Amino acid sequence: MNPAAAASTTGRGRPRLIERYRAFLPITDATPALSLGEGFTPLVRLDRIGAALGLANLYAKVEGQNPTGSFKDRGMVVAVSKALEAGARALICASTGNTSASAAAYGAAAGLEVVVVLPRGQIAAGKLLQAQVTGARVVAIEGNFDQALRVVRELAESASHPITLVNSVNPFRLEGQKTAAFELCDDLGRAPDVLAIPVGNAGNISAYWAGFGDYHGAGLAQSLPRMFGFQAAGAAPIVLDRRIEAPETIATAIRIGDPASWTKAVRAREESGGLIESVTDDQILAAWRDLARQEGLFCEPSSAASLAGIQRLAAENRLERDATIVCVLTGSGLKDPKTAEASVGDLLVADPTAGAVAGVLGW
Ligand SMILES: *Cc1c(COP(=O)(O)O)cnc(C)c1O
Repeated sequence: MNPAAAASTTGRGRPRLIERYRAFLPITDATPALSLGEGFTPLVRLDRIGAALGLANLYAKVEGQNPTGSFKDRGMVVAVSKALEAGARALICASTGNTSASAAAYGAAAGLEVVVVLPRGQIAAGKLLQAQVTGARVVAIEGNFDQALRVVRELAESASHPITLVNSVNPFRLEGQKTAAFELCDDLGRAPDVLAIPVGNAGNISAYWAGFGDYHGAGLAQSLPRMFGFQAAGAAPIVLDRRIEAPETIATAIRIGDPASWTKAVRAREESGGLIESVTDDQILAAWRDLARQEGLFCEPSSAASLAGIQRLAAENRLERDATIVCVLTGSGLKDPKTAEASVGDLLVADPTAGAVAGVLGW
């Protein structure tokens, strides 16, 4: 076989994510190699949306292209590898959906039992099915995410057999999620000026900030971005500076009233000279539609909070025209077919002739 073909078919042409950034990760020779092909996600220029906003350098980091369709895989691959190294036999997590899909997949690949605890009736259909099909045992509770997190923390502490909590309170999750910041610097050849990101449990904004700091400290990026976090208006504890007992938003991945990484996120905002503000569900859905229709990027609604925030700041004249701005699109649009379905019209229906199809198209 020709060596180039061998390289591409065995994956040797592209290193594993955690090998590529090994120097910045808690990986040792004793850490088992585990990978579903996470990371290396596209950075896409948003030319049409950027032009409409008067922004010359607007980009999206398309994290929905990770193996299970969200950025959660970056942290999960490290957390599950370290759990294996430590001799764990089972994984447990609470989830608004994507953490469970990711834990279930990496748990399956590692041969571990996986238990997920979810708020009943609040998980997008695609995410729930991913967890179930990959073999996790799913427990739905009559409560919200914050309560589910309390439950799994207690179970992980009191369990009689080795069970690893893989929520973002697991420090290895945030370590792995730093890799997205490294990729951005490598792809742009510099750090962005602004990183715009949805904020739920606030782990991801904290991880990006740590990642930019690592790269800057190692001399691999000359500057640091300002961190702009966006919460949904009905689930904005950091913006309002108080816990929200009953968070509500269409953006289910960020429907969180008591973020686990609250303090870290506030530190990222302060240290970077950034901000954490809120956007309404209507603004989120408008941004979500713009990404799909103007740029061909179908993300999940929660992801669009990043662009919704940038659109708001641009309208308020609070952005520099030439700044390099990256919006993180955290998950794939295929996760949440119900919200998508509600936003489209009826199908056009026609008899199977060219004339009939032309007729319904109004040609
Ligand atoms: C988990 C998640 C978020 C929120 O990230 P945090 O680290 O909890 O702030 C945003 N969008 C999607 C799609 C997610 O899965």
